[in-house]
This record gives sequence, structure tokens and C-alpha cells, in this order.
Amino acid sequence: MSVTTRFAPSPTGFLHIGGARTALFSYLYAKRDNGKFLLRIEDTDRERSTQEAVDAIFEGMAWLGLNGDNAEPIYQTQRFDRYKEVIAQMLVEGTAYHCYASKEELDALRAEQMANKQKPRYDGRWRPEAGKVLPAPPAGVAPVVRFRNPTEGEVVLDDLIKGRIVFASDELDDLIIARSDGTPTYNFCVVVDDWDMGVTHVIRGDDHVNNTPRQINILRALGATPPAYAHVSMILGSDGAKLSKRHGALGVMEYRAMGFLPEALLNYLVRLGWSHGDQELFTREEMIAKFDFDHVSASPGRFDMEKAWWVNHQYLKSVDPAVVVPEFTWHLERIGVDVATGPSLTAIIEQQRERCRSLVEMAEKSKFFFADLDGYNEKDAAKHFNADSLALLGELRTQLEALPEWTTEALHAAVNGFAEAKGLGLGKIAQPIRVAVCGMAVSPPIDATLFLLGRERTLARLAAAVARA
Ligand code: GLU
Repeated sequence: MSVTTRFAPSPTGFLHIGGARTALFSYLYAKRDNGKFLLRIEDTDRERSTQEAVDAIFEGMAWLGLNGDNAEPIYQTQRFDRYKEVIAQMLVEGTAYHCYASKEELDALRAEQMANKQKPRYDGRWRPEAGKVLPAPPAGVAPVVRFRNPTEGEVVLDDLIKGRIVFASDELDDLIIARSDGTPTYNFCVVVDDWDMGVTHVIRGDDHVNNTPRQINILRALGATPPAYAHVSMILGSDGAKLSKRHGALGVMEYRAMGFLPEALLNYLVRLGWSHGDQELFTREEMIAKFDFDHVSASPGRFDMEKAWWVNHQYLKSVDPAVVVPEFTWHLERIGVDVATGPSLTAIIEQQRERCRSLVEMAEKSKFFFADLDGYNEKDAAKHFNADSLALLGELRTQLEALPEWTTEALHAAVNGFAEAKGLGLGKIAQPIRVAVCGMAVSPPIDATLFLLGRERTLARLAAAVARA
């Protein structure tokens, strides 16, 4: 049987990195087996679910390239008829029953149990048993439906990450599966969905561990084989506290805005809890081929922003620049650059990637290739512009203007030859050129910079700098 996994977010906010990692694990595990990775929107909590959040989740998933294999995602709110049908069937089969206990009665029961130092729980007053006579249903009361949970034995969960967890059946209440208005409850919907979707492996956050024995029991009552479960531990902040806004960004799209490549973020996330020897960098294909649950840690991972940046930089430096172009374009456009007005983006990426670990930085440092300078970096100008250096720039400009061809080689020879002829180190001349043409003293190698910038822009900017003298 091939693997089917699902990612089942509740649309109450954006896609956060913990959710993205859970989705990634689900995706990798399915893809490794040529199986299916499905997306389901758990929107039964109508008060907290919003269309905005649904859109934000899709946006994050699409950016990460974690698209579900179902052409249309499944929405729980569109499946109410199905849930009702299963509840009706369970009532007939006796695996569920109507309970007419009022809120007041249950509150009183709870108060009494607490007073007796007992664990509060439903006492089964409406639960049918052989030989038990149930009270007559009170008039005018709409009942809830409860699952008739087995009272004997235990539920053994062999979690793929956490190992064996055993729950005693009698610790589990008769869960309400439909409210008095007929709407199904969360745990029940999850069960029916996982069953109908043919999910073989449920991979989700470990905040759901306690739901699992209930879900397993309901599946069994339905005659379904429970899937395997893998409960992923949470992600903590670098200080070991629960990850929150103050540790940095939480939403996946904030990582985009910060200048991460989607593949690099995935690579960082897969390593946050999973290892494969001491390998740090993985292509998507390698992640798919190598991912397993045997090497997923049961303890929480700590988010380390420095390491995330390191991974991003490694990616920027090593991938085919063409892969970076769409993301780089997005960043350039965000800062008002019209990419049609400058040199080839792949060429810029090749020149910039050694020194930029984020695409925000790369875009900022590459703006000068496209738009007119909006002034010079003050410190750099103060340091590198003076009467002597500007006079040198003037002379060099004349030589460059006379170059028969505008190539990196010709520019290299011209600038180096000029510095040599003047008996100056290359820096003495390259730094003022940089400030003049880039507006700042950092740029790729000067020959490549001038080549990419082009003849016209280079000469115009040198002239503008010289005019300051
Ligand atoms: N909707 C749940 C959540 O967002 C996930 C439930 C599950 O995967 O079973 O936490």
C-alpha cells in the first residue's frame, strides 16, 4: 500500500514555520514513496477560521513548493453531510448514542467529582449497556451524540517519532461527536477525513498526541484500520522558550520578505529535528530520498537564526543562478527597481552571491545597476573622495571612454594598468570608482561591476563624481 499523508492546518492565521516543517515532513515522507501528499483545511471552527488565513496558508505552501496532490483541497465545512451520515450509521450500530444530560447536570457532576477528589469525567448516564434501563428522553431537549468508547483494554500508539505510548481505555471519556445542534466536533471530523482520504500516515504537531487514542478508538469502531502516527515536537526559540514573535519572524512569508530562498528555508527546517549523518545541505531530491522518521528527534528543536542564514547563504552560493532569479526579481521590484532597465540578473547574482547571505541585501546592493544613484554613502564618500582621488577618476574616465570594447577583460586591464602607471595599489583607485558608480564602497570586483553597469552609466557616474571636485 503506498503512502498517503496530509497536512491539515486550521485556518486561523498565517502559515508559521512550525506548521511548514510539519507540512514538509508529510510531503517528504509521501514523495519518498511516490505516494500522495494531501491538503485539508480544518475550518470547522467557523468563528476562528477566515478566508484570509486560508489564502495565507496557500500562499505560504505555494511559495515553499509544497503543493498538495489533490487538485482541490478538502474543506471540512463542505463535508458536513458526510459526517452526519457516519454519525447516523454509528447510532444504528450502537457505537454512538444520544446523551440528554443538560449543562447544569454535567456541571453538578463535575463539581461533585472535584469535591471527592476524582478526575472529572462523564459518568455514562446515557450510555446504553446490556441490561441497563435508560431514563426516558426528556421532552424538548436536543441531545448531543457521544462516542461509546471501549472501557476495557488499552490503546497502544507506536508513534514513529515518540515511540510507544500506552493509554488506558477507561481514561478516555465518551467523547461528544455531535453537538446538540447536530454539528460534528473536531476529533470526529479528523477521523472521518483521514479514513475517507485513505491517509496511511498522520504526521502532525505533538499537541495532538492526546487526541490520538480517541481517534484510534473511533476508527476502530468504524471498522477502519488506524493509520500510523508521527507526532512532531514543537520548535522552540533559541533561548528554549516557546517560539514567539520576539524570537523573530514566525510566518513563512516573513522569511520571504527577509530574503530567504524557499529551498533554503526548507533545508533549514528539515534539519531542525531530523538528521542524516552530519550532512547539512540537501537538495529537495535528496531530502525526499533520505528523509525518514528514525532520525527525527523526539525533543523540541531550537530555532537558530544564524544557522538559517548560513544555510541560505550556502544555497545562494551554490545553486544555478537561474533558480534565484524569480525570487531576486521579487525583491528588486519590492524596492522599486524595474528589472528591465539593467543587466542580466543571473550575471548580477553570480557576482553578488559570495558576499550576500540574504536576497534583501543582494537587492539593496544591486539597485545601482538599475536606477540612478540617490546620493553617495556619506562615510564612504568622505573616506574615498578628495581632490586627488577625483582627479584620478577624471583621468581614468578619459581612458575608459577611449576603450575600443567594453568587456570585463578590457576593463580589468585598463583599471589595473592605470593603478600601476600611477604607482598606486588597486584599492586606492577601485574604492573611489566604487563610490562613484555604486554610491558605496562595496561591490563585486570592479571590472565585473563596470562591465555589468555598462559604458554609458559608468562614464556618466564617473563624470558626476568628478564634477564634485
Ligand atoms: N488542524 C490541526 C492543527 O492545525 C491539525 C490536526 C491534525 O493534523 O490532525 O493543529
